[in-house]
Amino acid sequence: MNSAIISIGNEILLGKTLNTNLQYLATQMAGLGLAVDYAVTIKDELSVIRATLDYCWSRYDIVISTGGLGPTADDITKDAIVSFFGGDLVFREEIWQEVTDRFKARGLDVPRINRNQALVPTGFVALNNAQGTAPGLFYSDGSRSFFALPGVPLEMEHLFERHLRGLLKERYGAQSVIQRNIHTHGISESALAELLADFEIPAGVNLAWLPQTGRVDLRLYGQDEALIGQTLESMAARVQKHVWGYDGDSPVTKLGELLQARGWLISCAESCTGGLVQKMLTDQAGSSAYFSGGLVSYSNAQKVALLGVSTDTLERYGAVSAETAGEMVYGLTMLCKTEVAVSITGIAGPEGGSDAKPVGLVYFGFAIPGKTWVCKQIFSGTRASIRQKAADYALISLIKELTELVP
Ligand code: ATP
Ligand code: MG
Repeated sequence: MNSAIISIGNEILLGKTLNTNLQYLATQMAGLGLAVDYAVTIKDELSVIRATLDYCWSRYDIVISTGGLGPTADDITKDAIVSFFGGDLVFREEIWQEVTDRFKARGLDVPRINRNQALVPTGFVALNNAQGTAPGLFYSDGSRSFFALPGVPLEMEHLFERHLRGLLKERYGAQSVIQRNIHTHGISESALAELLADFEIPAGVNLAWLPQTGRVDLRLYGQDEALIGQTLESMAARVQKHVWGYDGDSPVTKLGELLQARGWLISCAESCTGGLVQKMLTDQAGSSAYFSGGLVSYSNAQKVALLGVSTDTLERYGAVSAETAGEMVYGLTMLCKTEVAVSITGIAGPEGGSDAKPVGLVYFGFAIPGKTWVCKQIFSGTRASIRQKAADYALISLIKELTELVP
C-alpha cells in the first residue's frame, strides 16, 4: 500500500501557517504501517488541485487532502474534486440540519454561505465532524481511497481519529506499529553507534536513530510487542549510564516523578537560561507538586542582592565560574529551602566569549540532600540551542543523580 498527502492552502505556501497537519498525518499513517510515500503542498487554485488529484490518484492507493473545505469563496477543494472525479455537488438536507443546529446551539443565526458545507460530491460519503461545520469526504473505487479533510488542525485530527483510523484498518488491514523509545543524553550519536556496533537486532525489529538538540533517542519498532520489549531491555543495558528515560518520558515528567516519589521540592536560580528551566517545569500541569519556585538572577547585582553571591567571588572568578555557580546554589537553598536546587550561569552568545571563557561555557550548581556539586559544560550551537542544551542538562543531571539514589 502506498499513500500520499496533499496539503492545500495559500497560507502554508506564504509561510503564515506551519504544516502541522502533514506532521500529524504522516505520524499517524506510519503508526498504522501505512507510511506516507509522497506529500505535496499546493495553492487554493482549482486547476492546481485538479492536476494534483490526477497525479496522486493514478499513483497512490490512499490519498488524503487537507484544507479548503470551508464555506468561503477561497475554499474550492470540493469544486476541484467534482472537476476531477466527475459528478455534481449534491445538497444534503441532513448535513444542513446539523450545521443549523450547531449555530442554534450557540444562539447564532446561520449565514447562508454555510449551505456550501452541506454540498457533497456525487458518490462521496460525508464524514461527520463533531468539532466543526465542514464534514470530511470519503470516496473509494473499491481498492483506492480518497479522503478530503478540513484544514483546521483540531477538526482534521478529530476526523482522522473518528473515521479514517477505523476505515484504514478495515480496508487495508493496517496494523498498529509498536514503538518503544530509549532516551539518552551525554553521548554523541556516533559514540552511541560505536557502543551498539555489534548489538544484534532481531529480525522483525527496526531501529531508528533520532538525534535531537543535545540528546539522542533510540526508537525500536515493529509488530511483535514482546520481542521489542526484550530488545529494548538488552539495548538499554548496553547504553545504561546514558539512559535517562523511556517512551513518553520528558526530562520534566521524569524528574517530576523522581521528586514526587521522595516528596522533595526543587527550586532554580537561572542566569544565562533566563528562566527556561522554570518555564519547562511549569509547562507541565501539576508541577506545583515538585516545583517550588526560584528566580532569574541575570545581572551581577541580582546575584549579589538575591542570592548573596559575594562581590569578591564575582571580581576574582567572574559571573561564569564554578565559584559563582556554587554560591548561587547555596544562596538559593537558603532562600527557597527546597531539598533540591539548581543554579545555572554561562555564556549563551553569540557575543561575550573569550579564549578562556568561550561561548557555550556553562557552570551548574546542584544541591540534593547530603550532596552539593558544581560542574562545567561547553555546549555548541546558537544562543537558543545553547540555552536549551543547558536547561536539558540541568534536568537530566538531576534525573541521573536521583535515579542512582535508593528512594
Ligand atoms: P474552514 O472551515 O475553517 O475554512 P478549511 O477546511 O477551509 O476550514 P482552511 O481554510 O484551508 O481549511 O484552513 C483553516 C485554517 O486551518 C487555516 O487558517 C490554518 O490556520 C489552518 N490550517 C490549514 N491547513 C493547515 C495545515 N496543513 N497545517 C496546519 N494548519 C493548517
Ligand atoms: Mg477555509
